[in-house]
Amino acid sequence: MKIICIGRNYADHAKEMGAEKPTAPVFFLKPDSALLPKKNPFYYPDFTKDLHYECELVVKICKLGKNISERHAHTYYQEIGIGIDFTARDLQSKCKEKGLPWEIAKGFDGSAPLSERFLNKETLDLDQLDFSLRKNGELVQQGNTKDMLFSIDQIISYVSQFMTLKIGDLIFTGTPAGVGPVQIGDQLEAAIGAETLFKLRIK
Ligand code: MG
Repeated sequence: MKIICIGRNYADHAKEMGAEKPTAPVFFLKPDSALLPKKNPFYYPDFTKDLHYECELVVKICKLGKNISERHAHTYYQEIGIGIDFTARDLQSKCKEKGLPWEIAKGFDGSAPLSERFLNKETLDLDQLDFSLRKNGELVQQGNTKDMLFSIDQIISYVSQFMTLKIGDLIFTGTPAGVGPVQIGDQLEAAIGAETLFKLRIK
């Protein structure tokens, strides 16, 4: 399986990163080793001094597809979860400066921890779905799907022009404003609506 991550999908986050609003979805991949196995602790990596959280809704692909039309995209996923696109911001900045790929900053082991539980999309209003991240109990990110520059269906249609989507593939759909650093000992908690689905302590 592969993990597809959408960058700059919320205008307020693109702005805080000093990036332009994209005219097509921007995406990159993380390897399957970026998933954090159940119950495994997350250790602050020793190659960065500026590890950032990016809380994102995550779509699980449930059907094989290529060149999927936007109209049919909704039949390719059934469940929505939430996770963190961990980013070694210092390494990413260096890569960006040099025009190099980002993998060392985005694709390291454990860089895509996910909620154990996913919610059935039929129980959610995907056009205006709230999600949020708390760090040590304090609200640090708040997003709503209505602010996405590209909807889930548009993302699926776009990505599948280039890559076949397979059952179990995950799409991180982008982060709203409010990204920031974590330190060892911090506790992250992410929720869809009022339901906390994800908890992680940085060790
Ligand atoms: Mg991200």
